[in-house]
Amino acid sequence: MLDRFNREITYLRVSVTDRCNLRCVYCMPEEGIPLKNHKDILSFDEIVEVCKAGIDSGINKIRITGGEPLVRKGIVSLTESIAKLPGLKDLSMTTNGILLDQFAQRLKDAGLMRVNISLDTLDPDEYRQITRGGEITDVIKGIVAAQKAGLEPVKINSVIFDKDSDSMKEGLKDFANKMGLQVRFISRMNLETGDFSVVEGGTGGDCKICNRLRLTANGYIKPCLFSDREFSVRELGAIEAIMKAVEFKPEKGVSCMHGNFYNIGG
Ligand code: SF4
Repeated sequence: MLDRFNREITYLRVSVTDRCNLRCVYCMPEEGIPLKNHKDILSFDEIVEVCKAGIDSGINKIRITGGEPLVRKGIVSLTESIAKLPGLKDLSMTTNGILLDQFAQRLKDAGLMRVNISLDTLDPDEYRQITRGGEITDVIKGIVAAQKAGLEPVKINSVIFDKDSDSMKEGLKDFANKMGLQVRFISRMNLETGDFSVVEGGTGGDCKICNRLRLTANGYIKPCLFSDREFSVRELGAIEAIMKAVEFKPEKGVSCMHGNFYNIGG
């Protein structure tokens, strides 16, 4: 399906929870968030129905996100249900890697193809500070488990806090080279001010070629991360919500005053 600017929309990012086992300083408030009522979060059947509707409309790439997707109970069986959908060419996940050691093989067996793991620094103290308590050793174990399970490629997503963090970037590039990983640098974004740039090593943030829609954990299709427009799959039905999102997809992102990374899924 093409949008008004002749961009082919083929990619759906699916947030399966707004919950997370970390409190990253650029994403979640220290005290955490008011958790949504369970009934406000889409069920597995509803998520699969939206993915199916998306594929029937031209989507062929799906990424499972959160919050942290691995804290959603039954995530392996949900992954399996999505992976089985005919017409899906690419199924990936973005995770903070903390629990990946326990899940990697089962996710691979369920049909997950590849994984992006958030890692902003190699310094254990800095990592603990950025994530407000996370242990980098768990992430490294997760990376090794993902590679062992055959998830391919394994990519590192690194948020860059300030423009002149070249030494940090060099360190992460070296680490990625040694480990046989790909690394992508994401400049710190601000939804409200509309501050974002193209992902280094990826295509995110390049509005000219944007091919994506997002499904929030509570059932809204968002045409753009930096826009407040969203369409309820429960009110409109999956197909109608997707069609509306494509129809109203903006030429480029401006700002999002009513969303948060943890429930949109970045
Ligand atoms: S800001 Fe919106 S249009 Fe631009 S790349 Fe991001 S999602 Fe696409």
